[in-house]
Amino acid sequence: MLKGKTALVTGSTSGIGLGIALTLAKQGANVVLNGFGAFEAARDEVAAAGVKVGYHGADMSKPGEIAEMIEYAKKDFDGVDILVNNAGIQHVANVEDFPVEKWDAIIAINLTSAFHTTRLALPGMKARNWGRVINVASAHGLVASAQKSAYVASKHGIVGFTKAVALETATTGITVNAICPGWVLTPLVQKQIDDRAARESIPVEQANRELLQEKQPSLQFVTPQQLGELAVFLSSPAADQIRGVAWNVDGGWVAQ
Ligand code: NAD
Repeated sequence: MLKGKTALVTGSTSGIGLGIALTLAKQGANVVLNGFGAFEAARDEVAAAGVKVGYHGADMSKPGEIAEMIEYAKKDFDGVDILVNNAGIQHVANVEDFPVEKWDAIIAINLTSAFHTTRLALPGMKARNWGRVINVASAHGLVASAQKSAYVASKHGIVGFTKAVALETATTGITVNAICPGWVLTPLVQKQIDDRAARESIPVEQANRELLQEKQPSLQFVTPQQLGELAVFLSSPAADQIRGVAWNVDGGWVAQ
C-alpha cells in the first residue's frame, strides 16, 4: 500500500519508533531511520522487508542537524512523504527539583523538534499534494501525572501543534494527527519500572504490575506493532479525512 513512499521516523533505533518503521516498511514504504546508539540491527531488520533504508544520526535537540537530516532525505530518497515525529525522552522529578537542563532537553526533543521537521518537510509534501505527519504524543498529551511536568507540557504541546498544522493543511492532501499511547514496554518505560523496584525494594515483576494497575485498566502493555498498524491506517486513503485528532491507544487510561 505504501510502495514508492518514504517514511522518516525520528527516534527509530529502538522502541516505538522502530516498531512503526518496521510496520510501515512491511507495507512497502522506504524508511529513513534516526536515533542514538547502534543503528545497524534496526537498519537490517527494516531492510528485511525489501525496502530501501537509510539512517541519519541527527540530534533532535539541534535544529541545524535536523535540517541536515531533511536534506539527506530529499537528496537520497526524493523527500519525506510520511513524517513520524517520535523521538522523545522522560525525566521524573517534582517541579521545584526539576533540573533546568532536563526541562530544556525534554521540550526541545519532544516538542520543538517536531516544529523543525514539519516546517522543513511540508513544502515537499505540498508540492506532491500528499503527506502524512504522525506525531507520537502520549496519554500524557491528554491527561497529567505528578512529577512529569516537562513531559506532560511537551506532550500537551505537541497535541496542540498537531491541531494547528492540521488546520493549516486542511484543504490539501496532507493530514496531521497524533497518536497517544499508554504504557508500552520500551527502554524508556523499563527505566521507570526499574527505578520503582529499587525505590520500593520490590521485585521488578511487582513494579511492572503496579505500574499497569495505577493507570492502564487493560493491565496489558500496548505494543510498538499496534502503534505501527495505526500509523499504517492513518497513511491509508480511508484516513484522508482524519485530521487533527489525538488518538489514544492506551488500554483505557484516559477513559477513567
Ligand atoms: P525509547 O527510549 O525506546 O526510544 C526513544 C528513541 O528516541 C531512541 O531511538 C533514541 O535513540 C531516540 N532519541 C532520544 N533522544 C534523541 C535525540 N536527542 N535525537 C534523536 N533521537 C533521540 O522510547 P519509546 O518508549 O520508544 O518512546 C518513543 C516515543 O513514544 C517518545 O516520544 C515517548 O514519549 C513516546 N511514548 C512512549 C510511551 C511508552 O510507554 N513507552 C508512552 C507514550 C508515549
